[in-house]
Amino acid sequence: MKIKLIISCLLTMLTININAKQSPSFAIAIHGGAGTILKSNMTPELEKAYHAKLAEALKAGHAILKKGGTSVEAVQAAIIVMEDSPLFNAGKGAVYTHHKTNELDASIMEGKTLNAGAVSGVSTVKNPIKLAAEVMTNSKHVMLSGAGAEKFAKKQSLEIVPPEYFKTERRWNQLLRVLKKDPDATALSEDKTDKQASVTTNKIWPDDNKFGTVGAVALDQFGNLAAGTSTGGMTNKKYGRIGDSPIIGAGTYADNKACAISATGHGEYFIRAAVAHDICARVLYKNISLDKAADEVIQQKLVKMGGDGGIVGMSPKGEPIFSFNSEGMYRGYIDKNGKVYTGIFKQD
Ligand code: ASP
Repeated sequence: MKIKLIISCLLTMLTININAKQSPSFAIAIHGGAGTILKSNMTPELEKAYHAKLAEALKAGHAILKKGGTSVEAVQAAIIVMEDSPLFNAGKGAVYTHHKTNELDASIMEGKTLNAGAVSGVSTVKNPIKLAAEVMTNSKHVMLSGAGAEKFAKKQSLEIVPPEYFKTERRWNQLLRVLKKDPDATALSEDKTDKQASVTTNKIWPDDNKFGTVGAVALDQFGNLAAGTSTGGMTNKKYGRIGDSPIIGAGTYADNKACAISATGHGEYFIRAAVAHDICARVLYKNISLDKAADEVIQQKLVKMGGDGGIVGMSPKGEPIFSFNSEGMYRGYIDKNGKVYTGIFKQD
């Protein structure tokens, strides 16, 4: 009787062990921009719409991880959902430049190989994150810009759209408001002849002072991390300005030994602080937790410099983390236990 019991116990332990080996960890986390997101300006409907879109993006990435896809594929899938939504400053909801155009930037990085791809200043590529991934996997380069990047997108058979695809009333009104305060706003007088200038909606968005870039980080079943970021940049940007989002080490970084990071915030500061790489480097060289490393950079170093924003991160064990020094950050994760979380304000 005793022997039977011992054998049955051993068998159970063996099964548990095999099951544990058969179900490796995977997880995903995303952001949809940080900044002054005011609850007082948020309608319940809009808040619901943001939570729903964040959850949809998370689920798109998670489904890929669940069926054994790679973290690079999952990051793209989550970002594409947000690029296709006018709610975020990326793809369809991209902000306007000073010259009334939309110029998009994106980047992606794979933690296993440290391979990376990035694009900047594209105006006709529907999903810039896909183009960044094409640069990473199917070119000898890391970063392509403007017309050359668009030529490469066509060659890779990516979906090309007319520049008008990116026009939205919300972002247009946002530009008009910013131009009113801009001393070099020559564009404002031209705007009077523009049909869209007659748009007079006073609808205030809760987050016009935010940096609505989108990003994702993921760990796949093979233990590989990836990070990606996509943006329209900053409203009223001039002279071909490029922010941190397509800069590897500033807006995006992934290293299987340390972490995966995607950032959102005032790009100039994030470039100068090499935010994404600095967080991973602190994990690696100081041997501290990802949480602590992220707070050192976002809550201390960046605050001292005067830079607003935040990051989403993933540890090599699949622990999602957030750190932001702004009032809010659209964010969410599906952790390794399948728990789904989405948040907007600090207290969420
Ligand atoms: N980091 C982006 C940039 O500076 C803006 C954002 O996060 O929304 O271009």
